[in-house]
Amino acid sequence: MEGSVEARVSHEVDRWLAWLPRWRPGTHRGRVRLCTRCFGSPILAASGLDVDVPHPVQHAFSMRMKGIIDASVDDYTARNLPMLHREIRLAEERKARRPYRAGEGLDPEFLGLDLDPEETPGQPFLFTLQGLEADAAAESAEPAPRPFTPQEKEALREEVRLADEFAKQLGRRICIELAHHRARIAAAVERHVEPQVAQMLADLDRELDAPGWPG
Ligand SMILES: [Zn+2]
Repeated sequence: MEGSVEARVSHEVDRWLAWLPRWRPGTHRGRVRLCTRCFGSPILAASGLDVDVPHPVQHAFSMRMKGIIDASVDDYTARNLPMLHREIRLAEERKARRPYRAGEGLDPEFLGLDLDPEETPGQPFLFTLQGLEADAAAESAEPAPRPFTPQEKEALREEVRLADEFAKQLGRRICIELAHHRARIAAAVERHVEPQVAQMLADLDRELDAPGWPG
């Protein structure tokens, strides 16, 4: 992992700011489920993006910060947590052998979102990306690995706890770091997001006033 937390946060904020002018409000239906990455996120609160900002804009930011944490936790695990490191590596190898992986290789703004839209009750889709992935995984099923001894389980649990603790500490450091970026984040939202949201609301207003609208 290259560079300080400070440098990495600054770099990812730069990249998010470079992406923001390309953001356009979606025309699809709003999400029904709350995004677990963004809802109540201390990182969004620290960046000032927690209120009055459309979810896709928040999500792209959350995932960039998550990327920093994931890369650092991977690095920490590889150096300090041999059992966990081995398990992750084996799981990744198994995953890499799967013939079809729908959620990989996406840009950060799309990572971690539902792959498929929600079905309308009574009108199931012919196929979904998640369904295709599950089918492909089932076809290439592998024999289960050897079960752990109780000691191994205990040791692994401790390593998971350490990795989790490391991730939390890093998350807190990122939040502190983000305080230095709040002003430029707010300026970019004001410039690139707010006019589009205002436009969207104005369009909606006009639609509701248009003749022919019932009521
Ligand atoms: Zn989200």
